[in-house]
Amino acid sequence: MTPNAVASLIVLALPAGYALLCWFSPFGPCRACDGTGNHVTWWERRQARVNPHRKPRRRIRRPCRHCKGTGARLRLGRRLHNSGRRLHHDGTR
Ligand SMILES: [Zn+2]
Repeated sequence: MTPNAVASLIVLALPAGYALLCWFSPFGPCRACDGTGNHVTWWERRQARVNPHRKPRRRIRRPCRHCKGTGARLRLGRRLHNSGRRLHHDGTR
């Protein structure tokens, strides 16, 4: 295979892989709380920067406002897919 064929294969495989990821696993970990569902204060963010290997808190005392305490967020590709499906559904009924 020529280098150009390899490069174009990679360029074609990346979006297909992301689409498969969004299909099989539409939710990713919340970026604000790292998937714990806990509200993270500035002090905890600072402590995590000082010691990145400490264990995250298990019990939820105040839910994260980005994911409402679930620790999961909808991936960007899935959000685009859902909005496209909604637009198609609303436009064709
Ligand atoms: Zn969160």
